[in-house]
Order: sequence, then C-alpha cells, then structure tokens
Amino acid sequence: MANIYDVAIIGAGPAGIFASLELSDAGLNVLLLDKGREIAARVCPLQQGGKCCVLCSPCHLVSGFGGAGAFSDGKLTLSSRVGGHLEELVGLERSRELIDYVDSVYLRFGAPRKVYGVGRNISSLEKQASSAGLTLTPVKLRHLGTELCHESLKAMQSYLSSRAEIRLRTAIESIEVCHNGQKAIETSSGERFMCRYLILAPGREGAEWLCNEALRLGLTLSSNPVDVGCRVEVPMSTMKKLTSRLYESKLEFYSNSFNDRVRTFCMCPGGEVIMESTGGADPVITVNGIGYTQPRTENTNFAVLVSTTFTEPFHQPIAYGKYLARLANILSGGVLVQRLGDLMDGRRSTPARLEDSPLAPSLKAAVPGDLSFALPYRYLKSIVEMLQAMDILVPGVASSHTLLYGIEVKFYSSQLKLTPCLETEIEGIFAAGDGAGVSRGLVQASASGTIIAREILHRSGKKPSTIVLTSASSLGRLP
Ligand SMILES: Cc1cc2nc3c(=O)[nH]c(=O)nc-3n(C[C@H](O)[C@H](O)[C@H](O)COP(=O)(O)OP(=O)(O)OC[C@H]3O[C@@H](n4cnc5c(N)ncnc54)[C@H](O)[C@@H]3O)c2cc1C
Repeated sequence: MANIYDVAIIGAGPAGIFASLELSDAGLNVLLLDKGREIAARVCPLQQGGKCCVLCSPCHLVSGFGGAGAFSDGKLTLSSRVGGHLEELVGLERSRELIDYVDSVYLRFGAPRKVYGVGRNISSLEKQASSAGLTLTPVKLRHLGTELCHESLKAMQSYLSSRAEIRLRTAIESIEVCHNGQKAIETSSGERFMCRYLILAPGREGAEWLCNEALRLGLTLSSNPVDVGCRVEVPMSTMKKLTSRLYESKLEFYSNSFNDRVRTFCMCPGGEVIMESTGGADPVITVNGIGYTQPRTENTNFAVLVSTTFTEPFHQPIAYGKYLARLANILSGGVLVQRLGDLMDGRRSTPARLEDSPLAPSLKAAVPGDLSFALPYRYLKSIVEMLQAMDILVPGVASSHTLLYGIEVKFYSSQLKLTPCLETEIEGIFAAGDGAGVSRGLVQASASGTIIAREILHRSGKKPSTIVLTSASSLGRLP
C-alpha cells in the first residue's frame, strides 16, 4: 500500500517552502512536490546568451525549488498593505505578526539587515507625489537581490532535504478526495501519493491548472482584477530620487480617461528586463524584471500595471491575460519593445531608432515594434497618463527615449474561496500563495504557507517549533 503522508504540498515556491519548514520542524511527515528542478539545476538558456525564449517546459525562471522566488529580485516588502490579501484574511495584527515572523526566517537564512523605506524625507516625497496626482505608499523593504535570494532558497532546500521528502521534476495532474477523507494526488507519469492534508501552492505559473482542478472539484472561484501592462525602462539616474530612499516606490494613480487603477510594481534599479514563459501546457511569453545586489546595468526598470475589474458574465481572467500576451508573442516571437516617443508619434520602433537612442534596452532579445497592436487602447492610454503624472514627480520618466516592453500580465486573477486559515470548501485541502489569489509577492506567499502549517499543527495537537538556524552566518553550513 502507498505511504500516507501527513501533508503533501504541491509547489515548492515560498508558500510551499514555508509550510514545509514549519510542518517538518514539528515532526510531521511532509511530501513537497514540484514540476521544476532542484535550484542549482535551474538555468535559463536566455540568460546563458540565447537569442530568444525557447519555451522550456517547465520554465526554469518560475518553476522548481524556490518557485518564481528563485530568480526574483528578492525584495521583501514588510507591509501587509502591499503584496496580497493577508490583512483581509487574518486581520491587521495577525498579518503584522506573520510578516515579522517571515522576515525573521529570511534573516536567519541570510537576508541582509538593511531596511529601506524608513527614516526622514519620506513624507516630503509623499507630498510631491500627491501634487502630481499620485499616491506614494512607502513600505519597509529588505532587498536581497537575485544572487542572495537564490542563495537563501538554496539554504532552505538544503535544510529541508533531511526533514521532508522533496520530489522535484514531478508534475501533478489531478487531485482526488477519497471516501475516508484522505486525498490522492496523481502525477503526469501516473504515480499516486496519499495524504491526510493537502496544500495547493502552484504559484502564478500553476494558476490555470489550479483553476481547472478547482472547477472539477466543485470549488468556488471569484475573479480578482485583471492586471495588464508593460515594463518601463529608464536611466538609473532618472529614478535615483526615489530608489535611493525607498528602493521600490509603490505609486498609484487613477487614470483620467477610464478611472482605472494604475500602479508601479517591482522596481529594479540597475537591473535587467527579462522574458519568462508561463501558463503550463499552453505557455505564453511575458516580460518581467530582476535586480541584483550590486547594479549590473545603468538602467532602472519597473512595471506599470493597469487593474480592471470586469463584470458578469466574464469569468476567464487568466485566458484574457494570455490572449493579450499571445498577441505580443505573435507580433514579435516573444516580447516587443517600443520607445515612448515612437508610441506617441504613432509609429513603430525600429532597430535603427533604438540604436540612435541614448538608452540601450537591457533585454537584447526584445523586438522593436508597436505596442498599440498588442495592448487595447484602454491600457495604453492609462499607462501613458501614469507616466506623464510620474514625470512631474520624477522628471525624465516620460522622455521620448523611455522604453516600454510588452506585455506584462500577472496571473493571480482567480481567487479560491477560502476560510481565514486558508482552507478550501473541502476539509483538509488548503491553498496558499499567488496561484490561489492570496498573495502577490514573496513575503505574503511565505506567510500564507505559515498560516496553513500552523492550522494543521493545531489540528494535529502539535506546537510550531522554531527553526534551528541561529544567524545569517549559518548560510551554507546547515545542520
Ligand atoms: C522575475 C521575478 C521577479 C520577482 N521579484 C519579486 C520581488 O522582488 N519581491 C517579491 O515580493 N516578489 C517578487 N516576485 C514574485 C514572487 O516570486 C512570487 O510572488 C512568489 O514566488 C509566489 O510564491 P508561491 O509560492 O505562491 O508560488 P511560486 O513561487 O510561483 O511557486 C509555485 C511552484 O509551483 C510549481 N507548480 C505549479 N504547478 C504545479 C503542478 N501542477 N505540479 C507540480 N508543481 C507545480 C511551480 O513549478 C513553482 O515552482 C518576482 C517574480 C518573478 C518571476
């Protein structure tokens, strides 16, 4: 008879990892599954000098131990106001306690002590933003950079490997609830695992799979707003006014023409624009950004995302986002890049126009073209209005040389109906992280895994135990 695990976790991103840490430390029998590879074996061909995204299946950038966190910029936003719905789910006080706890674990696994977004001069920036029609939300932030984020997750993999069973390169196809309440999960190669509790943490990459399984199991899904936009790249010096004090500036704006919420997201000073493939069996190429501990380019990139809420009968936010991304893929074979000046002049960007520009694109594989063929008017108009408002706060952002890459879509648009301890409508099946529509970043994804683990420990009559590591210097020398 197959081994019955206390807990099986689908997805080894931050949500799955934090649940595993807590559960295995308390002595439960944990199985952690992911379709991607071990962290050291995750190598993106594009970052090794490839010309274009070759649609690896699964994508090394977002799949494998560490999930999408493994190549992330490692910005830990230490506030419940951004990065997910934690505050709505568990209240302000508990979300603060969870964020502090998650931060302490990242610190123990090697995160640096320095925190941005606190101190003097922040309120003067808030006032200047407000005069430009923008809302600036200063958040406390710790920055690991891609290298250190990767190292911390590697340390977590090594720590967990002797405490939990980790099965990588194992894609889960389906979930079944048995008559005795146990859960069965089946892999794409037909292997079956049984467990008492199941945690679904498949991230944005697995959001579509999760949606399909949820519908098959009769679970209720609601639509989050659809976030669509582009990645903006400007000279690093242009953004210094904000990035030197805040590192990441969370700016929000309501577009004049459509009253849509437009916001900046994932700012990467000295970073690079990258391509990623996402969407499981039917992937699309989208754009993202990464930053490093030390700047590697002279540019700063950030996303400008437009959130739109659709009304009935619309119920396919992920399909809609993929459809838009596919338009950019059809036009360019991957990602389009356009100078803002060319967009405003109603013409495409060309290799020659880009070469004449003082700002060199960090994503060499992006194809010069025309974003207005891929992004609906409503999105483009809102993005341009946002950049013009930002230009008042940070002169130069709406320069004609500013680069726009398209398109960026965030696939956390479907939200599972969950209790405050993140249990689905099926007893013993929980959902965490970005794929379930709970979080939008590393800290809240990690916190969501912790919430579930603590609930399972409570039901099992066990106490959460603290992790053995004692200091950042333990990195690489784990027990
Ligand atoms: C380039 C980039 C930069 C980012 N920068 C930041 C940042 O600076 N700060 C920040 O807060 N956030 C950042 N993020 C977002 C952050 O990485 C995510 O919010 C976080 O990783 C979500 O965690 P998760 O555990 O929910 O899912 P993920 O990290 O996406 O992990 C989910 C895992 O589930 C696996 N999976 C999916 N379906 C299946 C299946 N059927 N069977 C088996 N396995 C499956 C996937 O392979 C994946 O490894 C960035 C993301 C990217 C891509």
